[in-house]
Amino acid sequence: MSRLVIVSNRVADPNQVHGGLDVCVLDALRKRGGVWFGWNGEIASKESCLEVGYAKLDRLTFVTTPLVERDYDEYYLGFANAALWPVHHYRLDLARFTPESVEGYRRVNERFAEMLAPLLRRDDIVWVQDYHLIPLGAALRARGVANRIGFFLHIPFPPPEVFVATPEHEWLMRAYAEYDLVGFQTKTDHLNFCRFVTECMGGRIVSTDMLQVAGKVFSAGFFPVGIDVDSFAAMADSPDAARHIRRMRKTSAPRIRVIGVDRLDYTKGLPDRLRSFKRLLELYPENRKRAALLQIAPPTREDVQAYAEIRRELEGLSGEINGELGDFDWTPVHYIHRRLSRETLAALYRASRVGLVTPLRDGMNLVAKEYVAAQDGTNPGVLVLSRFAGAAEDLEEALIVNPYDVDDVAHATQRAIAMPLVERIDRHRALLTRLRARDARNWTREFLQALDASRMAVAA
Ligand code: ADP
Repeated sequence: MSRLVIVSNRVADPNQVHGGLDVCVLDALRKRGGVWFGWNGEIASKESCLEVGYAKLDRLTFVTTPLVERDYDEYYLGFANAALWPVHHYRLDLARFTPESVEGYRRVNERFAEMLAPLLRRDDIVWVQDYHLIPLGAALRARGVANRIGFFLHIPFPPPEVFVATPEHEWLMRAYAEYDLVGFQTKTDHLNFCRFVTECMGGRIVSTDMLQVAGKVFSAGFFPVGIDVDSFAAMADSPDAARHIRRMRKTSAPRIRVIGVDRLDYTKGLPDRLRSFKRLLELYPENRKRAALLQIAPPTREDVQAYAEIRRELEGLSGEINGELGDFDWTPVHYIHRRLSRETLAALYRASRVGLVTPLRDGMNLVAKEYVAAQDGTNPGVLVLSRFAGAAEDLEEALIVNPYDVDDVAHATQRAIAMPLVERIDRHRALLTRLRARDARNWTREFLQALDASRMAVAA
């Protein structure tokens, strides 16, 4: 079997995953073995210190490099997180474009290619992850790398009317065309990309999964990311989790726990979620003193201004709701601002009657899947899911809501709270079947199979 080389912006510490991408990549590499290349999270004082470091864990090799301060500002905080991230999440109002940030993005992609190219063996399969590294494939090709190279976008691909606001969109398109296969999370993202190719770039659709643009023919498709369902379910069902849940019930327990778990990001719809929980308490006052929202939201990217603002807003809102509606023996909103272990998260999901997953826009959202996997099949909780999360394209048995409409979310939360056991069990069973059909292993297998097939398709 060919060696798998995964490249992503940040190589995670396996004991401390930070988001959906880390979870997927680790699942893929643990099962198959291979190499993970990317940034080690450190900032070096000068460019001459940018060396490649190696570490091994079982069948997995980590190959990492630091960034310098300027790269961190221009590439990571700049073009990746203050331009591409908001554009891809339909937030042109928050996008900041500067020539320095584009230059930083180009520079780091070139440097990653320079470091990686000599390490590649002839039959390695290279799989590039996410929006930080769109031009990496082209930079590798420019260095003579002829290997199969695939790219997966973990975030949404917006409609072309939005995407073309990116000053460098034509350059990015040419970079996409250098891959053998480009993968998206959902049918909608794939469709948006095909529209961009045909309507804005003069390209054409060769077949359902092949495109031609900028003189290249390449494959594109959608491969919804999944989780390792059984291992997550086992964590939620462990004696440790049971102990955790018993302790929680003894100490603080509201009778009905509603849970939200998100990185603190403006795309996650957190202020609207808090408002809709307040609305639930106003519309259905029988929940007062019975229900509480546990919102776990560890901070990320705090050096980007929009992230500092969302943190202030959320802290203000939870204080306001607790001050206005809470009592000496009841706190409506518990807000935890840090990371928890996956085991603790699994226990908290299981102990919660409602999972509130209401992003304004999200590539997939693994929290929705983890919440379902963690439930007790004989007495499961109910998932309330935003129609704008990629997961909603598949998880039809969740209660699907419009996260911008606080009344809609409040009504759905009430419906979840009041749902009869038989209906909860039916919905949960159906959702679990869907999760299993698209789990982490299938995601890796299907993408790599399609990558394998892509060359043959071009040759034919
Ligand atoms: P994103 O990739 O945008 O962060 P996802 O929902 O796809 O969103 O993935 C988030 C991942 O991070 C999930 O696996 C979730 O369990 C994990 N996570 C989120 N918040 C925390 C937290 N407070 N502590 C530990 N893990 C967290």
